[in-house]
Amino acid sequence: MDAKIALAGNPNSGKTSLFNELTGARQHVGNYPGVTVEKKEGTYFYNGYRMCIVDLPGTYSLTAYSEEEIVTRDFLVTENPDLVIDILDASNLERNLYLAVQFLEMGVPMCIALNMIDVAENRGIEINVKKLSVLLGIPVVSTIARTGEGKKDLISAAAQIIREGKQKRSFKISYGDDLDEALLEMEKEIMDSNFLTDTYDARWIALKYLENDKQILLKGQENNSSLSARLEKMVDKVSLHLEKTLNIYPEAMIADQRYGYINSIMKQGVMRQEHGQSRLYMSDKIDKIVTNRFLGPIIMISILMALYQFTFTYSEAPVVWFERFFGWLGDVVSTHLSDGFLKSLIISGVIGGVGGVLGFVPLIMFMFFGIALLEDSGYLARVAFMLDRVFRIFGLHGSSVMAYIVSGGIAGGCAVPGVMATRTLKSPRERLATLLTVPFMNCGAKLPIFALLIAAFFAKNEAAIMLVITLISWAGALLVAKLLRITIIKGEPSPFVMELPPYRLPTFKGLAIHTWERTWQYVKKAGTVILGISIILWAMMTFPGLPDSKVQEFENMREIEKVTSGTAVIQELQTHSGDTELSGEARNLKDRLAVIASQKAEESLRNSIAGRMGIALESISEWAGFDWRTNIALVGGFAAKEVIISTLGTAYSLGELDPEKSESLSETLVKTPGWSPLVALSLIIFTIFYAPCFITVIMIVKESGSWKWGIFSIVFNTTLAFALATLVFQVGSVMGILGG
Ligand code: GDP
Ligand code: MG
Repeated sequence: MDAKIALAGNPNSGKTSLFNELTGARQHVGNYPGVTVEKKEGTYFYNGYRMCIVDLPGTYSLTAYSEEEIVTRDFLVTENPDLVIDILDASNLERNLYLAVQFLEMGVPMCIALNMIDVAENRGIEINVKKLSVLLGIPVVSTIARTGEGKKDLISAAAQIIREGKQKRSFKISYGDDLDEALLEMEKEIMDSNFLTDTYDARWIALKYLENDKQILLKGQENNSSLSARLEKMVDKVSLHLEKTLNIYPEAMIADQRYGYINSIMKQGVMRQEHGQSRLYMSDKIDKIVTNRFLGPIIMISILMALYQFTFTYSEAPVVWFERFFGWLGDVVSTHLSDGFLKSLIISGVIGGVGGVLGFVPLIMFMFFGIALLEDSGYLARVAFMLDRVFRIFGLHGSSVMAYIVSGGIAGGCAVPGVMATRTLKSPRERLATLLTVPFMNCGAKLPIFALLIAAFFAKNEAAIMLVITLISWAGALLVAKLLRITIIKGEPSPFVMELPPYRLPTFKGLAIHTWERTWQYVKKAGTVILGISIILWAMMTFPGLPDSKVQEFENMREIEKVTSGTAVIQELQTHSGDTELSGEARNLKDRLAVIASQKAEESLRNSIAGRMGIALESISEWAGFDWRTNIALVGGFAAKEVIISTLGTAYSLGELDPEKSESLSETLVKTPGWSPLVALSLIIFTIFYAPCFITVIMIVKESGSWKWGIFSIVFNTTLAFALATLVFQVGSVMGILGG
């Protein structure tokens, strides 16, 4: 049986030495067709195999900048060797891994010869070969090419790979949010039109477009010029964006992330050097402190706390301005429109609903700014790196950390891209466990609910409560993941390497753009999806309204009040302009009429479609302390979590105790009987854990490939949330804490 094996590696890594060791005299030398690069071929016999061995030219990378690189690449795709042996200089491991990572990305079948192990030993470098092999997912054999040591082991490892046949490995490096997203889009276009996919892997082609690879660009233009142009346009777009926000080109970003991947391998104890590391870069120095076993977590918690403190402190004033603005807007509409459905729709449905969501724009903006700072500087990647150790205990992965963070693990993300971010997870079980638990994170839509409840009931310790909420959601997510991993999605953990790119100093412009983009997403959603749902919910809370007999009853009550007060008082109320004080009697009448109006509004809300639903649920929800109005909001929250806040706004403004005075929702809640800090806490817990919003469920179905998991997440999460909220409320009530 014949097999073709290619020897590849950096210049001077020992390829030719190994080649000579293997082939002895059975070799011939020529040139690669068309180029002056030397071509050496020879044969080696092993257990009945006739191995044709090719010594590829030495390269540091697989771009198309030099003849050597092109020869190597072309050889791999046109000759389809059964195996590539990548020869690494063990005394210079980090640098040599750069090429290895690119072979892995190309998806060629390969193993690694860790050569010059003698040189490495002399320098006091100790390499954990087994660990390296596990992390990379391919066999690694240490060799000394000059003496032929390790040759046998290497060839038997090689033969085994060849025997097993070409298996599709999926090796992916994350290139940061922007590039990852562009890669996915491009990959889809490439797959859809089978663009060069006979020869290359779709993701690899997309990557080469991003790297501005001349050879692939040229081939692409010949093959399908319109698609190629489209891909180039996508590249231009993301390039411009990267340049504006991070001041970096895609090529540089890609190189950084590859080194970041290698950096992370090195930091997982693959290499030990006796005389200490010879050279420490700035990033390494920072990492020594920031990812330290003891200091790291303390720094991480402090940074989170600082972020929340910063957000709540500085957003407080602007949030109040926004609230006042929407209150004023409501008053203006109220004085200019006559009573009726239109007025109610605009005030309660539109202003109360969308205004409630938009009111939190300043808070969201400050939070996004802080997160952009952490992300752009490279700190977030360290968070993921540190948490990897913890995540393994719960049957998850370092990549899960990133998915959690995207979903709002720190605050203000979204579970939809979070579910998509799980695509970087290779093991299907870990992926499933991750995508089922990302909805527990505190997405941007849940944030305003927490902010509202914290401001209303826990105003003294805002940042600390926010930190507790974050910790609860993570603890819950991890415990559920563990539960899933030991029951319905059992399986071994898979090895994993997280990219640790160098630290960068973020630019203010870049931060501003990132903050604005995300804030704008939030505003846009409030103005479209949330507006639509708000109106539907308003209708459900308004119709069918009160029966005529009931309306008449309230009218009679008004009349009785008026008659008993006498015409003089009525006259005073009608002509009153607001400049002068009302007489005691007139004020009395006004208050009593307001009470009747609010009773009528509440009666009408109770009689509405949504009200009846809320009331029907009350007999169960009261275990957790939720009244029927909250139930309406929570049911609405399934459509989109923003709706919780907007519906609470509508529900409480429809039945407001004193409709003349427009007070903020948080003020209203504090005054409403039945509400207490304990109820607020119970509601916070329920909001963290209950069913993901509709769009997220759809994403879960799509990404897991089964309706089963979508339904599971609705039923399981809601049950869990209700159990936890009930527990909190009941224990709190029995112990009499938090006003319960
Ligand atoms: P190539 O450029 O990858 O083909 O590397 P060569 O095979 O030409 O080797 C470069 C130099 O490293 C030569 O002087 C080799 O003798 C030496 N060399 C190769 N492998 C080893 C090894 O495992 N240990 C030591 N000490 N030297 C080696
Ligand atoms: Mg050579």
